[in-house]
Amino acid sequence: MFSEIFPNIFAFIPSNGGSNCFLLRGKKEIVLIDSSTRDNVGALISGFERIGIEPVEVTLIIHTHGHADHFGCDALFPNAKIAMHESDARKINAGLTDFACLQFFPETELPKVSFFLKDKQELDLGKMKLKVIHSPGHTGGSICLLLEPGEILFSGDCLFVKGFGRTDLASGNAQKLVESLKKLQKIGFKALFPGHGAVLLGKDKNRLGLEKTLEMATNTFL
Ligand SMILES: [Zn+2]
Ligand SMILES: [Zn+2]
Repeated sequence: MFSEIFPNIFAFIPSNGGSNCFLLRGKKEIVLIDSSTRDNVGALISGFERIGIEPVEVTLIIHTHGHADHFGCDALFPNAKIAMHESDARKINAGLTDFACLQFFPETELPKVSFFLKDKQELDLGKMKLKVIHSPGHTGGSICLLLEPGEILFSGDCLFVKGFGRTDLASGNAQKLVESLKKLQKIGFKALFPGHGAVLLGKDKNRLGLEKTLEMATNTFL
């Protein structure tokens, strides 16, 4: 089910292991960040009905990285361009199913990525702006997205409320994940919307959680 957490910013947080989805209704673009797993397609359709937005109105899907638990419902959005960081996008477009962990999601098809993203790229959604922050570690082309104004960080599988992404899958790198977490630590975001699990609102709690997570990551990996 979608809930409107901030004006024009909706969150879909499934409890079955599929990725979270976030919908941003800008004046120019309606953007979906990740599309979860295929078994959430029914729940996503009802979520869209509930908030009064049609899936055909979505103009852009941005993937935080190229794993299949984040792109399972792309086919529901026929008018959306699909965007991903260039490093993961090249692997997806080359058909690297192992990279995408497709063996765990046999009914899912690889998306066709038509919009390659780069670090620091800014996307104007109309009255909202998303900035791409390349944050490798979970995969080589993982990104976080910072929403301006509002300072919401969509962190994909790099950073969770109480944890961080695994680094043992294809193109994962523990040292890079620690560097990415350090990069995120310098950003003054007020809310954290991760790729899985609960969202976190409130700057102070957020910073504290991030400090602990960084410490945990450093101790685990270094
Ligand atoms: Zn994931
Ligand atoms: Zn992942």
